[in-house]
Amino acid sequence: MSQRQSIRGMHDILPNNTAHWQWLEQKITALFARYQFREIRLPIVEHTEVFTRAIGQTTDVVEKEMYTFEDRNGDSLSLRPEGTAGVVRSVIQHGLLNPPGLKVWYQGPMFRHERPQRGRQRQFHQFGAEVFGLAEPAVDVELIALVDRLWRELGLSDDLSLEINSLGDPEDRQRYRQELVDYLLPHESELDEDSKRRLHTNPLRIFDSKVEKTQAIMADAPRFFETLGEPAREHFASVCTLLDQLGIQYRVNTGLVRGLDYYCRTVFEWVTDKLGAQGTVCAGGRYDGLVAMAGGKDVPGIGFAMGAERLLDLLSSKEHEAGLPPSVYWVGSAQVATLLEQAEALRTACPDLCVGVDLVGGSLKSQFKRADRSLSRFALILGEQEIANGTVQVKDLRTKEDQHTLRQEDLAQYLAERLIELKE
Ligand code: ATP
Ligand code: MG
Repeated sequence: MSQRQSIRGMHDILPNNTAHWQWLEQKITALFARYQFREIRLPIVEHTEVFTRAIGQTTDVVEKEMYTFEDRNGDSLSLRPEGTAGVVRSVIQHGLLNPPGLKVWYQGPMFRHERPQRGRQRQFHQFGAEVFGLAEPAVDVELIALVDRLWRELGLSDDLSLEINSLGDPEDRQRYRQELVDYLLPHESELDEDSKRRLHTNPLRIFDSKVEKTQAIMADAPRFFETLGEPAREHFASVCTLLDQLGIQYRVNTGLVRGLDYYCRTVFEWVTDKLGAQGTVCAGGRYDGLVAMAGGKDVPGIGFAMGAERLLDLLSSKEHEAGLPPSVYWVGSAQVATLLEQAEALRTACPDLCVGVDLVGGSLKSQFKRADRSLSRFALILGEQEIANGTVQVKDLRTKEDQHTLRQEDLAQYLAERLIELKE
């Protein structure tokens, strides 16, 4: 356990990779705006109770995965393991629940002490959204449509499939819980240790077990879906009809439960078979009782969260446009002050251009090496002769084509045109 290394399961995102992150962040930021969601930015640390109350005492997240520590004054604090609980805390605290219909999104790091593996880290990142105060099935469907559009725009529609289920209302769940326990008790000795414990604390969660033998037992378990009450059944039917009308494909998976206790009615997940065992990229659902439970008014809510690392992993197998922004690099035997001056002038003239300057000097060969390493598309060369003539030479570093000589005052215009050309 070297203290010179980052903490296990918590990764640096290095300069070679950040272009992909920024590209994705921009896409998602724009998409949320198109659906009239506004961003909310919250602390990473909350009072532990914010999470234990919302997520549920007997969930994996609260039982084993939270980073919890004592503040200097003795308060118990936790790093956020997910976004919803903090959003709910915030919208209650700031009185944002009136009028109904608040739509917010968030992004940022989440922390769970899980076993690190592909698609599973201890610090990971989510994009998420929440809608408060609206109980209509159309709200569920608009959220799903947003995510569906994201997959289409990222070229991932063929890789991800939508599964939906209903977890009913609390009274349905009470009824079902008993049925499930009655079914499982005769199998108790065959269950894995976690599930044995859950049988008495939170039997629904046994559906989430990854242990094969347990999964086989659960395959024949009575389905929650069969015991749905009329209101939840109608809600679910409307969601399905609306999805059909929008042409959004889905599969009803009656075994789909969610890892957090607060869900009710519609739950949904997008899964892929391209990422190995960690195939869920985005998941969410309704949580109509959560705001009241957290001390606010009794208003409905619904949301989802997607894992940025899993999404980027899926995207990495695709050709996509997360290219670097247009970039140039000044080299030459001119005084460094002159190069700096020229670079500043170009930054003013072309605000969209990324402009580097060789500040080290030396042979032109070593300067070109650094230009290549900067990943710039063009080298701009300024030697004594160019200075004397008021010109500059431009070299395409990708094609290595012949150098052009331009008048200095034409450079900005030339680059703008070339870079537009290259984009097309
Ligand atoms: P899983 O069943 O994979 O553990 P979960 O139900 O715990 O997922 P949620 O709490 O619903 O996950 O979080 C939403 C999304 O966040 C997941 O679908 C996944 O993409 C991502 N995610 C969750 N936990 C991790 C993690 N430890 N590392 C990376 N991504 C994660
Ligand atoms: Mg999990």
